[in-house]
Amino acid sequence: MDWSERIGSLKPSATLAVNQKAAQLRSEGVDVLSFAAGEPDFDTPEVIKQAAIRSLEAGETKYCPVPGDLATRRVVAEKLTRENGIPGVTPDHVVLSSGGKHSLYQIFQALIDPPAAGEMAWEVLLQVPAWVSYRPQIELAGGVVVELETDARSDFKISPDQLRRAIGARSRVLVLNSPSNPCGTMYTPGELRALGEVVAESVEQAPDLVVISDELYEKVIFGGFEHFSIGSMPEIAERTITVNGLSKAYAMTGWRIGYFAGSGEFGLKIAKGVSRLQSQSTTSIPTFFLPAVRTAILECEAIVEEQRLVFARRAELVYGLLTRIPGLVCPKPTGAFYVFPDVSAHFGKRAPNGQKIESAMDFASALLETEHVAVVPGEDFGTGGERCVRISFACGDEQIKAGMERLARFVGSLS
Ligand code: PLP
Repeated sequence: MDWSERIGSLKPSATLAVNQKAAQLRSEGVDVLSFAAGEPDFDTPEVIKQAAIRSLEAGETKYCPVPGDLATRRVVAEKLTRENGIPGVTPDHVVLSSGGKHSLYQIFQALIDPPAAGEMAWEVLLQVPAWVSYRPQIELAGGVVVELETDARSDFKISPDQLRRAIGARSRVLVLNSPSNPCGTMYTPGELRALGEVVAESVEQAPDLVVISDELYEKVIFGGFEHFSIGSMPEIAERTITVNGLSKAYAMTGWRIGYFAGSGEFGLKIAKGVSRLQSQSTTSIPTFFLPAVRTAILECEAIVEEQRLVFARRAELVYGLLTRIPGLVCPKPTGAFYVFPDVSAHFGKRAPNGQKIESAMDFASALLETEHVAVVPGEDFGTGGERCVRISFACGDEQIKAGMERLARFVGSLS
């Protein structure tokens, strides 16, 4: 008896091998320095925890409305209006789900149908390297990914021309993720406006095109860059869905809280569609998390700023140390807590353990084996990723210094 083709199509992650090896080394007592984390190393702020505890103690343990209660959706709608400038967002445009990942999964399901016989599949324009879950989510919905390639030299950003060339009659979604996981860079407001204008100009050519703007890392920004929500552009507001969540901004990855909203009639329709889907699966986020969502959004600005400054300092530190290592090409990190150096200058060399380095995966596994440093090989992030490794700086300064020293020694040992 086998599982469905749908499940069979999901490939096991290439990163898993490195993580398993790191866990094995650790269990043998080896001092492994891990730069693989995809989550802040801070604890959830106490005020947020207390809001959930109080709710639980008050007996708020029953079902709640599928998209979340009105009070919480209002807080989210007001946040998107006030901070992000997205027009026409009301509580009815907002749906809370079990993480940004869940929001994205459901949005793809709500927008994309598998192709009917003889029809071309819906295309999703995805800038790569990109977060690992977009491709499987798109393909599970029946869409095909059209990769828009970027590299370290272009700060991992697409150009308006590149986007213009990629848009066609079957274009259904453009996914944007600024700041980016895994690239650690973000677009300037001007660059995003230019991309938005291309989308606006393409209405006749691609009437069904929708922008999904994944803004999970909106609060983790530095280098003087300002966060800009493309959904605030009036010309494309009704074709844009802004996705966000509490995981990265408030160190709440384990809580599993995400949300999205669009504008106007389209925004209402997508919220209704996703709610319909969610009502048949998870129903809602836990009822006693709702006050915690409100507390996070309304009361934690100072804590978020403190954490942002810590990440900014670490970004400087890691970048300064990395750029001293020969052959690593890396744009300066401007957002999220990752750097994504291109290590391909070292392909064709041999590590001291005898391993030939032909790929990011080889680089990562030889680094782990010889210097006990865990990084994420870029293969899972799409084209371009196979030349890069992801280094997360969601860890302390001392670890960053020790890890980059080991990385430098590893690179120096390649021959
Ligand atoms: N989008 C990006 C770019 C991410 O990196 C992640 C998590 O790593 C998510 C979405 C989903 O986050 P969550 O489901 O924890 O909200």
